[in-house]
Amino acid sequence: MDKATKIWMNGELVDWDNARVHVLTHALHYGTAVFEGMRCYKTAKGPAVFRLRDHVARLVRSSKTYLMDLRYTPDQIAQAVKATVKANGFEECYIRPIAYVSYGEIGVNPLPNKTEMSIAVWRWGAYLGKDALSNGVRCMVSSWRRISPESLPPQAKCSANYANSGLAKIEAVKAGYDEAIVLNTNGSVSEGTGENIFVVKDGVISTPPPSAAILRGITRESVIELAADEGIECRLSEILREELYTADELFFSGTAAEITPIREVDGRKIGDGTFPITKKLQSSFEAVVRGRNDKFSKWLDYV
Ligand code: PMP
Repeated sequence: MDKATKIWMNGELVDWDNARVHVLTHALHYGTAVFEGMRCYKTAKGPAVFRLRDHVARLVRSSKTYLMDLRYTPDQIAQAVKATVKANGFEECYIRPIAYVSYGEIGVNPLPNKTEMSIAVWRWGAYLGKDALSNGVRCMVSSWRRISPESLPPQAKCSANYANSGLAKIEAVKAGYDEAIVLNTNGSVSEGTGENIFVVKDGVISTPPPSAAILRGITRESVIELAADEGIECRLSEILREELYTADELFFSGTAAEITPIREVDGRKIGDGTFPITKKLQSSFEAVVRGRNDKFSKWLDYV
């Protein structure tokens, strides 16, 4: 990865190479950390964090689920994010706040240990590869199922969930694909390993509801609002695996992946490979994050 200069750790900006934790940190052993991924975009009015308050709100919800005391208010966290971007002098970057159960007691019970927090920022280009945004990605349906709410809460962005995502990603990459699409334990489509998924059929877009064990993505919610603004009908509905193969278009949404077309699933080419609706949503998303659409300026927090 590309190193930056400063990382915010428990209220202080420390040098990148000194942002360290003890090897017996609880989170390292038991996955007891909650985190966020945001992007800061270059705009004509300076760097702006996309939906900062919504990401902080999700971090707070994730921590509540795991009874972690963040020790900072949402406002303090938002200020710290902006301070970190500023300290690194980035015009645009990816932002990774993480709250983790720290070093202290080593048993499974996280409650005796303090929660610590850090915020790192770095340059991160197209997450699914250089050509992904324009040409789309090749996917397989994973043999792994998305974590069930009966075992781990999918809506909490907890590090432990990514052991499941990691298995699906390994399988896809080893088989020569760019990304995995993961079904839930009912056998319907859930999401990617770090992205939500949308199907386009006959001019209507649909995406699985929260009950499909998805993470409620902030990009997903943005796409739903942008589609409405463009006059494109959007439905929340169960999606069957076979409906992926016969879709006119498919795309992923996520902070890292932004809006990425999917050009192939399990060896089936999707639609005619031109993705007109996906491209339309990509360009309206781009206009919003670059501060060129006043209607959605509420989503930008200038650094
Ligand atoms: N699903 C998973 C499992 C993710 O990790 C992410 C990335 N945070 C998403 C969906 C997309 O969420 P967002 O749009 O908020 O980045």
